[in-house]
Amino acid sequence: MQEPFKAILITRDDDKVQSVETREIGLAELMDGDVVVEVEATTVNYKDGLAITGKAPVVRRWPMVPGIDCAGTVVQSDHEGYKEGDQVILNGWGVGETHTGAYARYARLSGDWLIHRPSGLSALDAMAIGTAGYTSMLCVMALERYGITPASGPILVTGANGGVGSVAISILSKLGYEVVASTGRPDEAEFLRSLGASEIIDRAELSEPGRPLGKERWAGGIDSVGSHTLANALSMTRYGGAVAACGLAQGADLPATVMPFILRGVALLGVDSVMAPKQRREEAWSRLTQDLDLSKLHALSKTIGFDDIIDTAKALIDGKVRGRVVVDMK
Ligand code: NDP
Repeated sequence: MQEPFKAILITRDDDKVQSVETREIGLAELMDGDVVVEVEATTVNYKDGLAITGKAPVVRRWPMVPGIDCAGTVVQSDHEGYKEGDQVILNGWGVGETHTGAYARYARLSGDWLIHRPSGLSALDAMAIGTAGYTSMLCVMALERYGITPASGPILVTGANGGVGSVAISILSKLGYEVVASTGRPDEAEFLRSLGASEIIDRAELSEPGRPLGKERWAGGIDSVGSHTLANALSMTRYGGAVAACGLAQGADLPATVMPFILRGVALLGVDSVMAPKQRREEAWSRLTQDLDLSKLHALSKTIGFDDIIDTAKALIDGKVRGRVVVDMK
């Protein structure tokens, strides 16, 4: 292990003003853990954008190395499940929020948080999927557990050009679902069709206050947007359908009525990736190797370097990033 190494650090002064800088640090500045991972690839997720811009109180310990996920190689381990040379993936568990994270050459982590990277998935591909894509898979699995199948009818995907949305479209289309994509970027319609969307709607149709019950348009939904968008997604879900909710890009509120639940038996399925149990994570990552077309993954992701992370995080929060961003740390 070579020290010192480059890391992004979020600090806070006595007046609680946050600053972000790139600095050389040593392993001693990383928090405790029984496995040290050399980070080969990481990503910029919405939550990383919130942490770096300080737009929401994601970081709860200072100084913090942000970065909520990574793929890399174990370089030191006191954990029985992992040995030097193992290729691993880390998502969530408060890493990059309360535990020093992935935007550094090395991350010291708990082995309990790691999973082995499935064979057939490179570190860069694993992070092209990243937490956003893995959450898309968790949403698809939630709809399946509820009994939704391609025969049930179309599935709405909101925030379609975002990380969760674009991977969700790709997975659903490979599984044979008809996908209705909601976006505020209609100029990206061709891109969304290339991922497998068969209908594109303007997100303005969903993002304003709507009726308690609308026309029944879809059998289910994957929503990463929240607020009025989720309320309208529910109000237009067909009898017996379900919407998997995982995000808040429009807002954390849910200005809805109970009408879709009590008159149409619609279900709202909450999806969390951060504390998801290991077995479900392993299932999701294994499914991703089968149910996500790698050529579509490559089409929806772009690769950047470590020095581009901060600017990309800001652009993501401004809604200027399409699909997924992979950071090549090598
Ligand atoms: P991105 O920024 O990549 O995508 C968000 C998308 O939402 C945008 O691309 C845009 O899509 C749409 N959007 C943005 N602002 C608004 C708005 N004001 N009104 C309506 N739509 C809007 O983020 P991710 O895909 O990485 O994450 C999406 C959400 O999911 C975030 O809130 C994130 O925190 C959450 N998330 C939750 C997880 C969990 O464990 N529950 C895990 C991962 C993510 P378009 O331009 O197509 O309209």
